[in-house]
Amino acid sequence: MRSWKSRSALEMTKAAAAASESYFVSRLAERARRDDVAAPCTFEALAKNLETYLQPRQVAQVRRAHDYAANAHTGQFRRTGHPYISHPIAVASILADMHMDHQTLMAALLHDVIEDTPVAKSTLGNRFGKQVAELVDGVSKLSTIFHSPAEAQAVNFQKMALAMAKDIRVIMVKLADRLHNMRTIGVMSREQRKRVARETLDYYAPIANRLGMHNVKVEFEDLGFAALYPLRAERIRQAVEDARGNRKALMDEIDKSIQAALGGEGISAQVESREKHVFSIYQKMKTQHKPFKEIMDVFGFRIVVSQEDDCYRALGVVHNLYKPVAGRFKDYIAIPKVNGYQSLHTTLFGMHGVPIEVQIRTEHMSEVADHGIAGHWLYKAPDEKTRGNQRTRRWVRDLMELQQRAGNPLEFIESLKIDLFPDDVYVFTPKGEIMELPRGASPVDFAYAVHTDIGNRCVACRIDRALAPLSQQLQSGQSVEVITSDDARPSPDWLTFAVSGKARAAIRHSLKSQKRTESIALGRKLLNRSLANVGSSINDLDFRRLRRVFKEFGVRKLDEVLQAIGNGDVMSYAVAQRLLSADNRDYEAVPVEHAGPVAIRDGEGLVITYGRCCGPVPGDAIVGHMTPGKGFVVHIESCNNMTETRRRSPEQLIPAKWTGSTDAEFTTTLRIGVNRKKGVIAELAAIIADVDAGVDRINVVERDARVSSVIVVVSVQNRDHLARVMRRLRAIPNVLTINRVSG
Ligand code: MN
Repeated sequence: MRSWKSRSALEMTKAAAAASESYFVSRLAERARRDDVAAPCTFEALAKNLETYLQPRQVAQVRRAHDYAANAHTGQFRRTGHPYISHPIAVASILADMHMDHQTLMAALLHDVIEDTPVAKSTLGNRFGKQVAELVDGVSKLSTIFHSPAEAQAVNFQKMALAMAKDIRVIMVKLADRLHNMRTIGVMSREQRKRVARETLDYYAPIANRLGMHNVKVEFEDLGFAALYPLRAERIRQAVEDARGNRKALMDEIDKSIQAALGGEGISAQVESREKHVFSIYQKMKTQHKPFKEIMDVFGFRIVVSQEDDCYRALGVVHNLYKPVAGRFKDYIAIPKVNGYQSLHTTLFGMHGVPIEVQIRTEHMSEVADHGIAGHWLYKAPDEKTRGNQRTRRWVRDLMELQQRAGNPLEFIESLKIDLFPDDVYVFTPKGEIMELPRGASPVDFAYAVHTDIGNRCVACRIDRALAPLSQQLQSGQSVEVITSDDARPSPDWLTFAVSGKARAAIRHSLKSQKRTESIALGRKLLNRSLANVGSSINDLDFRRLRRVFKEFGVRKLDEVLQAIGNGDVMSYAVAQRLLSADNRDYEAVPVEHAGPVAIRDGEGLVITYGRCCGPVPGDAIVGHMTPGKGFVVHIESCNNMTETRRRSPEQLIPAKWTGSTDAEFTTTLRIGVNRKKGVIAELAAIIADVDAGVDRINVVERDARVSSVIVVVSVQNRDHLARVMRRLRAIPNVLTINRVSG
């Protein structure tokens, strides 16, 4: 009942919502057309601002850039109705407020010239120098980057990396450009507005955040939110305003008592109340499912002091004043955030139990928190005495150095991407192209991303020029080279570490057809062997006459019969019998017992498996057991499990022999009786490793006071290798007995 009521109170009819949405959209448009938004300053006002921190010579250069741009954009107008040049001037003025250098300002004024007018990059280079031309070019290229994040993202990131590698000022101009465009977004078409707003929320706000430009980030978020969801943004804004009145008395009270307490300790500080911005409230409601009221019930304060040690003293004061909430204190002064942010954070129980969130920082930290990387230009006059300042400078220097390092410009963009795209990994091909892979991807994923054919034929890889296992997880920024071989094939093991959908599907597909090919080959081998008993072979049979026989087996083609034989679904003996009797009326029966052994190549393929019961290794006398669904399973001739089969259905057993050799490994099981002594198990493992054999498993299965029985699963290359292992084990004084387990 209650929930129905509150829902109906909040939800309007669709028509009403649409009507009020269009109302708020028209308000956005109205705002965009205002002179102070669309054309907030004239060039003369900008120049005056520049004179406060640039040399007259530099201001003159900026003026030249302006005059040139104004001329190039002559006759062009923005959707707001203002002459086009008002936009570059607005962008430049945002950057001037950050005290960016004269080249950045020139680039800002010229930023749309290459794209929107017939002027070429080389022309700008001749007139304004290579650096300014590069900046303008970088901004033009960046503009295309975020448009299609789904398609060709790797290519876009490469461009982005290159643009940023050259100069981080490109990003600053781009952010300022987007900021002004967002302020005037109300005049765009509905479709454009939604797309640009999405882009701003998805890409530009995180970048601003990563660069520590908090103020810009907040403005991006609130403008983007209002453009994307005008109605929701307006409702939250209204609710914040309403709540403000209710909260005022309490805020003032808290403010006063903090001021007084700090004053009492002789700390001079500015105390400001903080309000959450609209988009962050919306996000909290959405992601944490918190009602608006609960979010607004938190009171935020910021205490700004002049010295770093005052921060800690102020912390002591507020902790004395109100009870701190356990576990909520964070010292970002000692350990700054990646983007250089520094502050002390704590939460207190205020009067009547209201939660109070407090941030404590110095003035300088405050500037960095608001402006981030822009603070580098804004606060050039260094106050080297404070540690925070040095850290900030180091941070900026690190960022600059990273992107200037010619060899690997991606590192900087990489640190950006960690925030932007946490689920992706970016690696380089040998040609320097960027590949986007899912997190946790292996070189096999990489190989399939390059081409299915490369994936299917890959055998090894180099990561950053060093040989590495195919299963190694790739890290962003690594270069990966795949080594292929024409007769290589995907291994079923790959499915344990390949993560990308493309690789997994391709591996499965290839294994399936591989298995089919192998089944057919094995089936051919087995059928020929059965036919050989009567001096015949597959090639001697007239298959046009045998369609009838195929029908009996439910197949249409020879390959299908062979595959069924290889899979163990039908016995070659039975098939041979039917084929021969159909071919020859006089024929009676195939004599099974005279057939020769089937050759098993070491570690062969997918359709031949090895009995876990006895663990045959090359060199052992073996027999094949045709099992429906499992195909050809190799056992040791004396395997206990085969004794019963031999008696009941001898036709399922096929003599086999080893042939050829590979460096494949085979597992087999040993039972070892040992004296119960400390360290004896470790000794066994060490000896086995010493003879280059592998230990897959060690279990103690029985023990009494004196003796333990240990089961060891070892992997060896062949019978000689196994004999060496057993000989060495037998030589251990504490080893009493040693036997191979068979069935
Ligand atoms: Mn622009």
